Amino acid sequence: YDDRDGTIWMDGRMVDWRDANVHILTHALHYASSVFEGERAYGGNIFLSRKHSERLHASAKSMDFEIPFTVDEIEAAKQQVLAANGLSDAYIRAVAWRGAGPDMGVASQRNPVRLAIAAWEWGSYYGDAKMKGARLDIAKWKRPAPETAPYTAKAAGLYMICTMSKHAAEAKGCSDAMMFDYRGYVAEATGANIFFVKDGEVHTPKPDCFLNGLTRQTVIGLLQDRQVKVNERHIMPEELEGFQQCWLTGSAAEVTPVGQIGDYNFEVGALTRDMSQAYEALVRA
Ligand code: PMP
Repeated sequence: YDDRDGTIWMDGRMVDWRDANVHILTHALHYASSVFEGERAYGGNIFLSRKHSERLHASAKSMDFEIPFTVDEIEAAKQQVLAANGLSDAYIRAVAWRGAGPDMGVASQRNPVRLAIAAWEWGSYYGDAKMKGARLDIAKWKRPAPETAPYTAKAAGLYMICTMSKHAAEAKGCSDAMMFDYRGYVAEATGANIFFVKDGEVHTPKPDCFLNGLTRQTVIGLLQDRQVKVNERHIMPEELEGFQQCWLTGSAAEVTPVGQIGDYNFEVGALTRDMSQAYEALVRA
């Protein structure tokens, strides 16, 4: 993964894949002072590219650092990375972080802020679960309260909970984990938002302590186009039993049907398939 051909954009320069390294005293490695984006290009076009670059800037700002490149510069850099690597359908990862410098304590004002952008081919995030419906475990870790961390930021630190939950899920043969929030309401999966269907209406957790994903917002738009009622609200765990369909949304996950969460089963129904196909058509439009 680090020993391969390719080119990565780092701090304004194109660097050989093997040389795209950071120093061991990088602040972000010790204190999670890092924010990132995950996006996909379809036929060379990055879906909602500018919104991702703007979110990267906003995430950095909420962690009290400024990315030393404008949104326009990030947009150009992403295109440069796709072109340099000859990619048209690809996953794009931008990451900004506090680098190594004179400050090695918690404070890090004097260390440079770094930015890198890499891209590679990445097929279905959940493999063949995309067709059959993914199996989800129920995570023991909860999304934290909004006053404990900037939950609107796509910040590396918030992902320690996700990685632990996803590893536990995979150890049980599941594709992912569904997490509850600090109050016990249904929140999201470890890298994707969640939707449910009951009697023709859609229910999705209100994003008041987790990322309001760009794919989530896109899919809500698609549902509204079809006059499907979308209820954004707090969802209790005991409601899972009454839902008929379920899917996940994310830039990497796209629209992935869910077949099972813990002991609850869902059908890959018509609305789920419609959303998956409509999203696929939209990103390539
Ligand atoms: N929640 C989490 C924890 C995520 O990592 C992601 C993926 N970025 C999402 C939700 C979905 O966000 P988006 O649709 O903007 O990719």
